[in-house]
Amino acid sequence: MKHIISCLLLGASLCGYQSAQGQIKKIEKVVLDAGHGGTDAGARGGSGMLNEKDIALAVTLKVGRYLNDSLRTVKPVFTRTTDVFIPLADRHEIANQAAADLFLSIHINASPGSYEKIKVGSRTVGKGKKRRTIPVYKTIHHRETKANGCETYVLGLHRNGQKENAISEFGENVTEEPGMLNINDPQTAIIVAQYSQMFLKKSVTLAQKVQDEFAAQGRKDLGVKQKGLEVLAGCVMPGVLIEIGFINNEDEEQYLNSEKGQNEVAYAIFKAIRNFKREVEKTN
Ligand SMILES: [Zn+2]
Repeated sequence: MKHIISCLLLGASLCGYQSAQGQIKKIEKVVLDAGHGGTDAGARGGSGMLNEKDIALAVTLKVGRYLNDSLRTVKPVFTRTTDVFIPLADRHEIANQAAADLFLSIHINASPGSYEKIKVGSRTVGKGKKRRTIPVYKTIHHRETKANGCETYVLGLHRNGQKENAISEFGENVTEEPGMLNINDPQTAIIVAQYSQMFLKKSVTLAQKVQDEFAAQGRKDLGVKQKGLEVLAGCVMPGVLIEIGFINNEDEEQYLNSEKGQNEVAYAIFKAIRNFKREVEKTN
């Protein structure tokens, strides 16, 4: 009985994921999380003029606009709409409180660049017969990179424990029945683990759709990857983190700073959400 009650409570509270097998029924609310913000500028462009936080916000708002204009049945929920700092924990809290169905975090990549040793002069060392001239070098850091392309992350398995804790904790918050969703209870723990696995599976599906759309636009596809990302670990729903290009690659910096580039990237993400929603709702 307790098992059934737990199922029902979890089903009711977990953002519309309503069966014990953990099937997603519909996609109605999508969190759009613009990475960084405020004092946290994120990565810098090769020119040093462009900040990740600004491009991330511009693209995120455009994804929201596409949803509002062309997919009215999906409501975008933003973690920020202005240049403000939002702690990571607050970002998943916003998503969990909104009982959202998907979480997408938008970021821009940066590679470490390269180091070059150049001769800047010479100097004399030693005395008498040992006196000689040696070259003087200086190391220059080139921020620019040749690395380019897009990649999408899902939560790494080693952070699964945090995900499961978030699921059980959020369930308790919503049901106001402390103990009912106690993760130490083996049966509840199994249900929570099932949800966690289902979220990961769905996250990979969504991530692949995002990458497919980028590839269709001719962008370099760096694939779907796993990482222990805090911003994804605390969300009680499938979630992905998208790196939409390299800010310190000259071509991509220009592209991502252009209206055309931002529109294309936003449209790719929008289409991935739309395709994911269609697939989910078709199977129900
Ligand atoms: Zn970032």
